[in-house]
Amino acid sequence: MADKGYNAFNMAQQQFDRIADMLDLDEATKDLLRSPLREYHLTIPIKMDDGSYKVFKGFRVQHNDARGPVKGGIRFHPQETADTVKALAMWMTWKCAVVDIPLGGGKGGVICDPHNLSENEQEKICRGWIRQLSKDIGPMRDVPAPDVMTNNQHMLWMMDEYETLMSGKYPGVITGKPVVLGGSLGRTEATGYGLIYILREALKEMDMDITKTTASIQGFGNVARYAAELYLEYGGTVVSVSCWDQKDGCTYSYYKKEGVDLNELVEITDRFGTIDKKKAEKKGYVVKSGDDWLTCEVDILIPAALENSITKENVDDIKSRVKIIACGANGPITPEADDVLEKQGIFVIPDFLANAGGVVCSYFEQVQSNQNYYWTKEEVLGKLDNKMTDAFYAVWQLAKRQKIRVSDAAYMIAISRVAEACKLRGWV
Ligand code: NAD
Repeated sequence: MADKGYNAFNMAQQQFDRIADMLDLDEATKDLLRSPLREYHLTIPIKMDDGSYKVFKGFRVQHNDARGPVKGGIRFHPQETADTVKALAMWMTWKCAVVDIPLGGGKGGVICDPHNLSENEQEKICRGWIRQLSKDIGPMRDVPAPDVMTNNQHMLWMMDEYETLMSGKYPGVITGKPVVLGGSLGRTEATGYGLIYILREALKEMDMDITKTTASIQGFGNVARYAAELYLEYGGTVVSVSCWDQKDGCTYSYYKKEGVDLNELVEITDRFGTIDKKKAEKKGYVVKSGDDWLTCEVDILIPAALENSITKENVDDIKSRVKIIACGANGPITPEADDVLEKQGIFVIPDFLANAGGVVCSYFEQVQSNQNYYWTKEEVLGKLDNKMTDAFYAVWQLAKRQKIRVSDAAYMIAISRVAEACKLRGWV
């Protein structure tokens, strides 16, 4: 989003330049990969419910499709900018490449606030977005998905418009659909479970017995909850979760030394991931300040709420017992804090690897939709486990071999795969 002084695309390019130098990429490859292949700017006119007309600005960025059709969400946000969409599209390219799925990176958006739009107006925006782009997206070109403030209903309107324009059934044009209309089983669990598959392997490599570990989680939404579910299934203990409290306008951590009872907490949580404070207190949880999740005496921290939650201001509050931070949220650690963690020897599993389970499962949805044949949840999660585990070991082994940060190793693998695809195609 727009933020004075911060430009996400500049940051993504700087990050890319650093790794490109480590990989010694040639100038043409660098030039190609540091910019998107295609960038669409749309003007979507809508007749509003009150009879007036309003024009919305939309975007789609296809960063690179050397490895396959591009994939990436569509965001509805009043402060959306072309540069943010470009940065996110680039990050999607690396995310798809690091988990080795045959897709490129894309992202889209519309400058609008769904809170101030009726369902009917939102539907018109979705259909208008597709009408402008129908010739430039498609199951073999570019496959959008839900993202900030878009959901499966938006995706269905978009799919319906595309199918109407193309006179056929193309469920593979979009992912994030409900299971009854071409969605994939396992998508709800995918991001949280994917993170734990990787954490499980990381703990093995660090000679830590998962059943003897404890964790503290920031957030109690989709990612946090399913990460907690699988971690508990593997025998770990979650001592604290935290969430935003809409009523009190602040965050709280919910602590239980002997470990939280996930089902009990889910029962008292609303659909936005807010735990009912009074009910939690009655059930014996100690309610602490929202920042407390970070200062728990645990082995594992899982930031799974929002960006910039571990900063240079609070990184020194992390207890020396913490050995691993597995990033469920996007960008939860600032670069300065990351440097401190590196010096302290805390192993950080970077976000674009740790939370890639979602996009892997979206890829599975696309595959199932294209073949019009759907897998069981066990099949989906089994394939997800294999993908995440393989991705982790490729990154881990490179990091060990070259004695570099795991996040650098992940970027090196991702960028070199995309560079190689461009080379093999004869683009550079
Ligand atoms: P969500 O909306 O389901 O849940 C967010 C949770 O964070 C809620 O429990 C909310 O109360 C809590 N929260 C908000 N602000 C907080 C704060 N300051 N302190 C503590 N808790 C706070 O979101 P989600 O889908 O679980 O996504 C969480 C993060 O993971 C986001 O950064 C998202 O971009 C990223 N992510 C999600 C997916 C996915 O598939 N859902 C995939 C990749 C990355």
